[in-house]
Amino acid sequence: MNCLRHGEVQLLSTVNNTVQGAIHYLSCGCFGTAEQLRDPQYDPKPPAAPDPRVGELEAQVAAHADTIAAHEDTIATHVATVEELQAQLAAKDEQIAALQAQVPQPVATPAAEAHAEAIGVDLTQVEGTGVDGKITKPDVVAAAEAATADAGATDTTTPEQAS
Ligand SMILES: [Zn+2]
Repeated sequence: MNCLRHGEVQLLSTVNNTVQGAIHYLSCGCFGTAEQLRDPQYDPKPPAAPDPRVGELEAQVAAHADTIAAHEDTIATHVATVEELQAQLAAKDEQIAALQAQVPQPVATPAAEAHAEAIGVDLTQVEGTGVDGKITKPDVVAAAEAATADAGATDTTTPEQAS
């Protein structure tokens, strides 16, 4: 029997009579009726045999299934640990932020504090013009000058006070 793909080959068996006639199985693996096999348009495609490597790989996957499952458990455990640690870290960050809020921020520069103490100015009455409203030495000087001017104004009777 001729196979259109493989030329002259041996007929293995003829079985399964159909409307078109007996189906011939050729030694190359192709099959079809005599009419089909003579037809140049007919593709005597053999049934796709399963690739033996597929079964081999499936067996390997099955053999490693326990290992894969164990590793997935380990990964899940580690993910849980990481999430727990991240939660702890977030809690610590909140504690740090709360503690930082409690730390009193210096309201005056050391020079301003020293000068205020030297000339007897109350720092709580001085408006700071430095970074974040910090009181600088010039602020203390200005406050002292303003206080002196106020004191002078109080000593002299102003027109408003007189009337
Ligand atoms: Zn063939």
